Amino acid sequence: MNYKLLAERLLPGEYPDPAFYEEKYPARDLPKGAEVTRLAPSPTGFIHLGNLFSATADERLAHCSGGVLYLRIEDTDLKRKVDGAVEAVIKALKYFDIKFDEGAQIGGDETYAPWYQRQRAEMYRAFAKKLIEEGRAYPCFCTEEDLAALREEQTKNKEITGYYGKYAKCRDLTEEEIYKNLDAGKPFVIRLKSLGNPENKFKFHDEIKGDVTVTENDQDVVILKSDGIPTYHFAHAIDDHFMRTTLVIRGEEWLASLPIHIELFHVLGFPLPRYGHHCSLMKQDGETRRKLSKRKDPELALEFYRKEGYFPRAVKVYMLTLLNSNFEEWYLKNPDADLNEFPFKAAKMSRSGALFDLDKLNDISKNELSKLSEGEMAAFLEKWGAEFGTESQKAYFADEEKLLRVLTLCMGVGGKKRRKDFTTASQAMQFIKFFFERPAEHEAYRVTDGDRRAILAGFLRRYDEMDDAQVWFSKVKEIAAENGFAAEMKDYKANPEAYKGSVSDVAEVLRIATTGRANTPDLYTIMQILGDAETRARIQAEI
Ligand code: GLU
Repeated sequence: MNYKLLAERLLPGEYPDPAFYEEKYPARDLPKGAEVTRLAPSPTGFIHLGNLFSATADERLAHCSGGVLYLRIEDTDLKRKVDGAVEAVIKALKYFDIKFDEGAQIGGDETYAPWYQRQRAEMYRAFAKKLIEEGRAYPCFCTEEDLAALREEQTKNKEITGYYGKYAKCRDLTEEEIYKNLDAGKPFVIRLKSLGNPENKFKFHDEIKGDVTVTENDQDVVILKSDGIPTYHFAHAIDDHFMRTTLVIRGEEWLASLPIHIELFHVLGFPLPRYGHHCSLMKQDGETRRKLSKRKDPELALEFYRKEGYFPRAVKVYMLTLLNSNFEEWYLKNPDADLNEFPFKAAKMSRSGALFDLDKLNDISKNELSKLSEGEMAAFLEKWGAEFGTESQKAYFADEEKLLRVLTLCMGVGGKKRRKDFTTASQAMQFIKFFFERPAEHEAYRVTDGDRRAILAGFLRRYDEMDDAQVWFSKVKEIAAENGFAAEMKDYKANPEAYKGSVSDVAEVLRIATTGRANTPDLYTIMQILGDAETRARIQAEI
């Protein structure tokens, strides 16, 4: 067979040779040990936790080693392409402190551009043509129906499915048959002519999984589709080589295709980058663990975290906790450190599934938010509110002094121990709502209507905004005593039958009337922040 002629017929025209590309995309000038990593999403518009999980690892591995993180867009599948998807990836990841050094819509060093696979089409074809010339790739004219029939036969025979060995029909077409098909205008794809033998197994060192056993590939995978667009397998090999990736971090679902990729790098004459296949994020669902699902789990979408107003550092802490087994211990010792000081290692990444637990993230979030000053919290809330807040929530920011007093109280700033009531921006805004809006609903009072009215009226008679906390509380005690509640806790405990309740029940009535809730930070201070008129109005309304 004259492969050269065939190559010219299949992919006519002049294409640069490999040396041209080697020169065009030279080895990167980086210090020894610097990793070049990449995130290579398809622009589907759906950015999920798995992307952040990968990206956090990529970012840390690159930047801990003085290397480079770039963004490549794998847009070979036009059907899945969504407008604005690239901007959305960048925006979503930026929120979590993932910054790319170069890439699509980022710019940076242009040496390795373009970063969209569609714009690199000529290069993929050049290499496909070269493989055809070398007899290592061939045209396949099988139709969808042919392939479906093949799959059916293989399934029936309990054989591995795919296009390989004796099933690779078009691999053995004669020159004559090929040209006859071409003359008839039959569409074709280009397949790799695999020389692997699945009897052969070898050890492969995965940077995350450790040593794994790999079976030689014998699948004649498609490298160029009938429209001349490459498959993931082929495109990633060429791109990772010419973008000079040193370490490919990707999901473990790709481990099964690793043999194909090893063979492709080999036929292309490229050294293999190092690979690390990370585990999937799992969720505990009753008794079983399953992968997070787009349909069932809103927390899979990264948009969820921005909308809810998760504090970026908290999410990063949790990602690092899930990614590196020794992070938690390090963080316990260095709670206030710059997270980027943690020495992140691929070898410390979890080999089996990482269990993602929203409750755990919420705990971390409470902890992280409790470290903020009231000013930092206000700034975080305001930023969230500007994008996601309702009109009434946006109004909370009009009186900055009041907001800071509210946050100081709710976060326990200056107190013995910080309160940990805030989980997210949206929850915090809900939490502080009663300072800014009259409660629309009140939790149930645990005293009779008559007692409630008497307590509230007694309070209105005595309340003086100028009272200090002690005087204020002594008045609450008076109201208790006047209405048959124990003024002192110890009296009540000693003789509960003698009373309707204690001073704490009286305080609860005042609390619910003022705030709508039975549980709040210090009520005296709340009344101070609300001011005399507002406090009175709320209590009056509950009488
Ligand atoms: N486009 C592939 C994906 O989104 C990239 C996999 C890889 O990182 O190589 O799954």
